[in-house]
Formats: sequence, structure tokens, C-alpha cells
Amino acid sequence: MKRLQGKVAIVTASTDGIGFSIAKRLAEDGASVVVSSRKQSNVDSAVDSLKKLNLEVLGVKCHVGLAADRKSLFEETIKKYGKLNILVSNAAANPTVGGVLTCDESSWDKIFDVNVKSSFLLAKESLPLLRKSKGSNIVFVSSIAGYDPFELLGAYSVSKTALIGLTKAAAKELAPEGIRVNCIAPGIIRTKFSRALYESESAHEEALTRIPLRRLGESDEIAGVASFLVSDDASYITGEGIVASGGMNSRL
Ligand code: NAP
Repeated sequence: MKRLQGKVAIVTASTDGIGFSIAKRLAEDGASVVVSSRKQSNVDSAVDSLKKLNLEVLGVKCHVGLAADRKSLFEETIKKYGKLNILVSNAAANPTVGGVLTCDESSWDKIFDVNVKSSFLLAKESLPLLRKSKGSNIVFVSSIAGYDPFELLGAYSVSKTALIGLTKAAAKELAPEGIRVNCIAPGIIRTKFSRALYESESAHEEALTRIPLRRLGESDEIAGVASFLVSDDASYITGEGIVASGGMNSRL
């Protein structure tokens, strides 16, 4: 029996990059997975490619910052699968490049709305559903930058530190109910989001000097961590962050 057989998972921002890999891996491990992102066309093509692999997936358009979209994400999940065991909150925005104290107010608000507030709201709104099954759990996708801020991603880094705090606070609150809450802190993973860090040879070289394993990570290497954390193999782990960064520094 596959380790996530019989489980139902929602993965936000899962039509590309790390979220797509997580959705694929959870489905390969036996879960029914709800795939979502802002654009219906992206949802359709992600669902098509996962269905071609004979994976059990449902696509629902969901911009995590929109209350109505989050509502229909949960409603469609229950309509199709009848329950929810796992929430992976993966969406993030980074509209600006620069230090934290040069960040303008509207960029700050957008970063915190999408990265932190939406994660908080998704967790809160999913709770009535997660409470109905044993062994439910939540995973937030933070970042190595949440432990050791990237100079050019100042506000984004702070938002990712906030997710580590959210993980710890929510884990303590939900532990008496047996609901686990953890986060993943990826290093530099080769996706569209991080392309500025590897597209030019000089940026790539510079990035590699900061990574002890001397290579960028791949989305599938984060998906394996997510699958472990949401499985019963991690049944005694809550309030933790697993860093998958090729050895980049992860001390606060
Ligand atoms: P990506 O490859 O650019 O993928 C982004 C995905 O998010 C797409 O499916 C996109 O689809 C969706 N999306 C964007 N904004 C959304 C929103 N507001 N609501 C719902 N879906 C949204 O990004 P990624 O690199 O995989 O990043 C995923 C997560 O990993 C983020 O939390 C990021 O901070 C974190 N992370 C990434 C790295 C890295 O090096 N790549 C490192 C550390 C942490 P639509 O356009 O259709 O919405």
C-alpha cells in the first residue's frame, strides 16, 4: 500500500515549479490531490499532464489572496472527495528586488498578503475539514531566506521568517488535537521564480559559491520532503522546519 493511500491533499500554487512537483509526488504516493493556481489555463494543463500519468487529481482555480477562490477550493474538494487530510500552502509573491528597508509599502503589503496572510487564512479555513480526520496536517513552504535573509529579497525573507513563526505557533495550538504543522525551507531551486539567480552565467556562478553542494536544487527534491512530512513516517514531527538547501546556512 502506498503511504498516502486514501488521503486527500490540497496543494496551492501547484501548476508549476515546486507546487507542481509536490502535487505530483503526493499523488504518486497514493493521495487524491487538488491542484490549483490563479490561471484556469495553467490549472487545466497541469491537471492534463498529471492525469496522463494516471494520477488522481482535481483542478480548481484559486488565487490564494481571494476569499471567494479559497472558499471554492475547499467546497470543490469536499464535493469531489468528501474530506481533506493535508494542506500544503505553497504560494508566494515577490514583486520587488532590494533590501528590507528600501521596500515600498505596497510591495510590503502584497508580499505579506500573499505569503503570510493567505497561508494563515488557508490554515484557519481548512481546520474544520482537517479536524474531521485523524492524522491531518499542514505544511507551509517557507524558504532558506527565512533563516538567513537574502540581501536582495529583504521583505520576502522577512515574510518567510514569519511563516516559520506561524508554523511553530499553529503547531503548539493544534498539537492537543493531533494535527501536525510543519514547514519546508527550500534553498535555491531551479524554477521560474528563481530564474534571476541562474539565468545569467555570472548570477549562476555567484549562487553556486553560496551552496556547499555546488548545484541548484530541483523541485522534485522538495517534493520528497513534503511527502515525508505529510505522511505517518513523520507522525512525531510537528512545529519543525526542514531545510533542503544543499547545505546553505540555516541558523537564525
Ligand atoms: P514558480 O515556479 O514560479 O511557480 C509558481 C506557481 O504559483 C505557479 O503555479 C503559479 O501559477 C502559482 N501562483 C503564483 N501566485 C499565486 C497566487 N497568488 N495564488 C495561487 N497560485 C499562485 O515558483 P516556485 O519557485 O515553485 O515557488 C513555490 C514556493 O517555493 C514559493 O512559496 C516560494 O517562495 C518557495 N521557494 C522557492 C524557492 C526557489 O528557489 N524557487 C526557494 C525557496 C522557497 P499561476 O500563475 O497560474 O497562478
